[in-house]
Amino acid sequence: MQIECSGSPADISSARPWSLLMTCREVVEFLAEYLAGELPPEQHKAFREHLGGCTDCVTYLKGYEDAIRLGKVALSQSDRAVPDDVPEELVQAILAARSRRS
Ligand SMILES: [Zn+2]
Repeated sequence: MQIECSGSPADISSARPWSLLMTCREVVEFLAEYLAGELPPEQHKAFREHLGGCTDCVTYLKGYEDAIRLGKVALSQSDRAVPDDVPEELVQAILAARSRRS
């Protein structure tokens, strides 16, 4: 007779095998590399599988992509008006964050 360890939720690991491949924390850590296409194939696959079953990470990814897109729009259209739905403060904050990182 087997006794389940109370510390590990066996039902979650069996119902969600992707969680064994990659954790939410790893998804967040590798997000930039994933979007840049720099993840090794195995990791890329695990990443996709995790996203296929984790709405939290999908939501996080969408927010991250939106921020990147806004940053690119702001950079590529520097001599044009920023779309009305993008607050100027947000654009400035993104640009400031990008220049600090690089
Ligand atoms: Zn996740």
